[in-house]
Amino acid sequence: MSDIIELSNFINGEWRPAYCDHWIDDFSPANGAQIARIPCSSGEDIDAAVEAALDAAEGWRNLSITERAEWLEKIADALENRAEEVAQLESLDTGKPISLARSVDAARSVANFRFFAEQGRNFDSEIFEMSDATNRVVYKPVGVAGLITPWNLPLYLLSWKVAPAILMGNTVVAKPSEMTPMTASLLAEVIEDVGLPKGVFNLVHGNGLDAGAPLTSHPDVNLISFTGGTTTGREVAKSASSGFKKLSLELGGKNATIIRADVDIEAMMPSIVRASFLNQGQVCLCGSRILIHESIYDSFIDAFLNTVSNMVVGDPADEHTELGALISAAHRDKVLSYIDLAEEEGGDILCGGGAPVGIPEAFQEGYWVSPTVIDGLPPDSRCATEEIFGPVVTLHPFSDDQEAIEIANMTDYGLAGSIWTADSDAGSAMAEQIDSGMIWVNCWLHRDLRVPFGGVKNSGVGREGGRWSLGFFSEAINICVKH
Ligand code: NAP
Repeated sequence: MSDIIELSNFINGEWRPAYCDHWIDDFSPANGAQIARIPCSSGEDIDAAVEAALDAAEGWRNLSITERAEWLEKIADALENRAEEVAQLESLDTGKPISLARSVDAARSVANFRFFAEQGRNFDSEIFEMSDATNRVVYKPVGVAGLITPWNLPLYLLSWKVAPAILMGNTVVAKPSEMTPMTASLLAEVIEDVGLPKGVFNLVHGNGLDAGAPLTSHPDVNLISFTGGTTTGREVAKSASSGFKKLSLELGGKNATIIRADVDIEAMMPSIVRASFLNQGQVCLCGSRILIHESIYDSFIDAFLNTVSNMVVGDPADEHTELGALISAAHRDKVLSYIDLAEEEGGDILCGGGAPVGIPEAFQEGYWVSPTVIDGLPPDSRCATEEIFGPVVTLHPFSDDQEAIEIANMTDYGLAGSIWTADSDAGSAMAEQIDSGMIWVNCWLHRDLRVPFGGVKNSGVGREGGRWSLGFFSEAINICVKH
């Protein structure tokens, strides 16, 4: 037990155990060993956290937005000082490669606080003049914000919510995924160290049913920002709707990567492979369906397989590793069950399909799936339309742009996508016809934090990012003064 980290809740600036003495074990995806345990919190812990958030609300909302922006800047500085620790913990907890945890998770978590600090410093009321009156729009805090996050990008996504929420004067109760609790606790340590007023940020560990559900239904929580799966999102929406809470749902995706005939395959290949397999394919934006113009279908597949089969899968702590382990045994089994289903649906597994060969003895108990490429599936098959959320991509030919658009729109999801072409105007025009919240042309996950982020159809409701986050985490009030 001595090496196992024991995490606590952080409520009203204090580290507290859960009311009941139940615990949830947290495992290393790379080797299956227990690394931590967290309190299995329940409604009583949520009640205490919401009470602390309510008590802190008045003092926090009375600060000016520029004063709150200064707090964000302090958090960013302190988090940056611990960036390597963030990367190590995130890699340990999620099984992702350390290089990715450094360049994406740790870097972006700091950037989120800095970005919203800057937004706060430049924030102005809007004025709309009439001939006989002046309208002034002021942005008030919503109240207590409940923030619920998934396991794939733990601190990256939590900080994406905490920063704008507290900037706009809300106080928060955060419930991270039970599978990746480590960096949420690190953020609470940072917040304690910088001396943020007690109760502005509260953290409750636990699972979705015992801790998440009481948060979404709590009568004193005025806003829910949820990132996770579509099925859970539906439950969250039901629970939040009776209290008319403000709600943002960032949900699943089944994104298309469209390769037009004029593409420079060799030049684009590293980016296309990255879009397919980053974080073992466990990024909501990953392109899990690759649609390829029929004239280059075979040459594309050759080049793609050549790159994919040379990817380095293994020890997440090794700097050279490109793909680590999946988050849990249950998730690995789900991904493998989709590969079985692909065979039943007539698919041809071109590479991967199971655990990688040659995983060292120390990682035998981990949750591994090698990068898997499947050809020959109808574009409306289950494997080609349902979210697998693992290192699995399906390949589909198309004959012209219109057919590519039709296939891209053939799912209930509508989160993201990418188009690869020498003709960026044609790519941009195609992008407008794809039912997704975000489309990249000749790039992928090229993020400007000022732009709207979110999905359509079953991929979510609402937008976050830049001024959309500031709007979501506030109530716009109009004051009309007659001249
Ligand atoms: P999940 O199972 O839906 O869980 C997300 C969060 O919700 C976790 O903290 C979970 O807690 C909690 N939760 C579960 N049931 C709940 C309930 N009834 N009420 C309130 N909270 C509840 O999703 P996941 O497996 O962690 O994450 C993967 C999914 O997230 C994928 O579908 C992926 O596409 C999506 N995602 C979307 C985006 C986006 O921006 N659109 C970004 C990243 C991920 P526990 O895990 O502790 O039980």
